[in-house]
Amino acid sequence: MLDTRALGRQPGSSREEVLNVPAPKDFGVEMVGVPEGAAIELDLRLEAVLEGVLITGTARVPLEGECARCLDPLASTFEADFQELFVYPDTRSGGNADDDELRLEGDLVDLEPVLRDAVVLALPLSPLCRDDCPGLCAECGVRLADAGPDHGHAVADPRWAALRDLTGDEGSRAIDRRERKQEG
Ligand SMILES: [Zn+2]
Ligand SMILES: [Zn+2]
Repeated sequence: MLDTRALGRQPGSSREEVLNVPAPKDFGVEMVGVPEGAAIELDLRLEAVLEGVLITGTARVPLEGECARCLDPLASTFEADFQELFVYPDTRSGGNADDDELRLEGDLVDLEPVLRDAVVLALPLSPLCRDDCPGLCAECGVRLADAGPDHGHAVADPRWAALRDLTGDEGSRAIDRRERKQEG
């Protein structure tokens, strides 16, 4: 809760505040989010207007999650801007029955729903450890970034058997082992 008493209610008066608030529970989406209790940094500008307090701000949050392709843990930061009008509790909304309008509770502002809209709704549903993450091999689940560009499988292709007969080298024995593992 943000206290707006220092701002006063004189239209035109404004105030800047820098705040650190702990992240609430479940502040994120399935694959990525802000760890509970981690610091949300807020740069806020509060302006008294006729019907309430206009809050313009930037939120900076730490993010933790998993790469949607290779499932590696990832950590980054995220920044979101927001602007919201909080109407004074004793002000009637000018005829339009807007149930979504946010109200001050006394002199207090509850920023959490605003931050949820600004941050959580903007988080990527499929976060990536890097833009060109190649992900996992669909056949064996190995990380393709580790396995290298030559990684591949030729399952049940008789030409592999012929090649093995010819070479018998370490590489083909590795393929042999892998195929046995999959069958077993
Ligand atoms: Zn990845
Ligand atoms: Zn593979």
